Amino acid sequence: MPVHTRVLIIGSGPAGLTAAIYTSRAQLSPLVIEGEPSSTSDQPGGQLMLTTDIENFPGFPEAISGPELMMNMRAQALRFGAELLVDKVQRLDTTQRPFRAWLSSDAEEPGVTADAVILATGAQSLMMDVPGEARLLSHGLSTCATCDGFFFRGHDIAVVGGGDSALEEALFLTRFATSVTILHRRDALRASKIMQERAFANEKIRFAWNTQVLEVLGESKVEGLRVKDTLSGEERVLSVTGVFVAIGHVPNTTLVTGQVDLAENGYVRTGVGSFTNIEGLFAAGDVQDDVYRQAVTSAGSGCIAAIDAERWLEAQGL
Ligand code: FAD
Ligand code: NAP
Repeated sequence: MPVHTRVLIIGSGPAGLTAAIYTSRAQLSPLVIEGEPSSTSDQPGGQLMLTTDIENFPGFPEAISGPELMMNMRAQALRFGAELLVDKVQRLDTTQRPFRAWLSSDAEEPGVTADAVILATGAQSLMMDVPGEARLLSHGLSTCATCDGFFFRGHDIAVVGGGDSALEEALFLTRFATSVTILHRRDALRASKIMQERAFANEKIRFAWNTQVLEVLGESKVEGLRVKDTLSGEERVLSVTGVFVAIGHVPNTTLVTGQVDLAENGYVRTGVGSFTNIEGLFAAGDVQDDVYRQAVTSAGSGCIAAIDAERWLEAQGL
């Protein structure tokens, strides 16, 4: 027999755990499926488990480490009675209510049924998939200038990518860095004209065209990049102490693809608050936010989803 819960929360990043704190304090006894420790994309605790200091989450004037912040949120959710399970939802059926979730891919019966579901599965940055990248993530290599730019005051750094994200990150990083070199694999930017104009006009920004990153160098911190000229095939080392990978993001929507309305760029479409087009299914955090993608905005949207779910359940008499 499946376990039945009034609120199933999928994901244990800032959005999922904030939703858990709110729904447990509302006596809804939520069940949180936290994700699987073995996988980077489904990491319990979410993306902040991959980083070091968080300096922009309110309430921590001296900064707090990503894992510590997530452990605190987890403890807070447990304190109010949320049930947390380290596991992965393999399949979700939202075509009938109660909703059905499978935790094992080969089971016929669902493991969980739920009156309401809060989808908080987050998003992932696309990565270059080159040697050194995974080892040096958060040790000079970052995917978030808003989060980490401050640590690069006076550094010579590189930004990889040629879209709006890369240019936006580069422009922001000029506030801190001595120089910012944008490495693009082609000779024409994908970014919008206005962003291109801003980047070209900025004295701190240089461009390395037709440049592919082969390796991120450094044992415990970034010391450079081994790059290749895609036209001549020539290899060289670029001496930088920081690198920002800005080649795009993908939301983790596999569970709901084909069931819920997605925007053109693949993010879950939410209307007012956290409501999706499926009654009883709410979405929070990065999975529905292609703009802000911050811990505090994700936490805020987890709060919104919890309140929406609570009121919706009440209106349904559940
Ligand atoms: P995530 O944190 O992505 O969490 C998603 C959750 O969903 C995870 O628990 C995962 O296990 C779970 N999940 C996914 N699929 C399934 C499934 N099928 N079944 C069960 N669980 C599933 N933001 C800041 O504000 N400040 C910073 O300093 C900062 N630094 C960052 C540094 C790095 C290196 C990165 C990558 C991001 C950083 N961010 C920072 C951004 C911030 O981490 C995200 O905006 C935030 O974590 C998004 O929260 P979320 O809850 O929506 O999703
Ligand atoms: P994007 O437009 O898809 O651009 C990704 C860039 O990364 C492209 O230049 C691409 O190169 C490059 N790239 C992809 N994979 C790579 C790899 N493995 N190695 C090296 N380079 C790689 O993504 P985005 O910049 O994140 O933007 C996404 C959307 O958000 C866009 O619609 C954008 O306009 C929007 N956005 C807008 C703003 C703004 O208006 N201020 C800011 C951020 C994002 P190619 O060009 O060769 O494919």
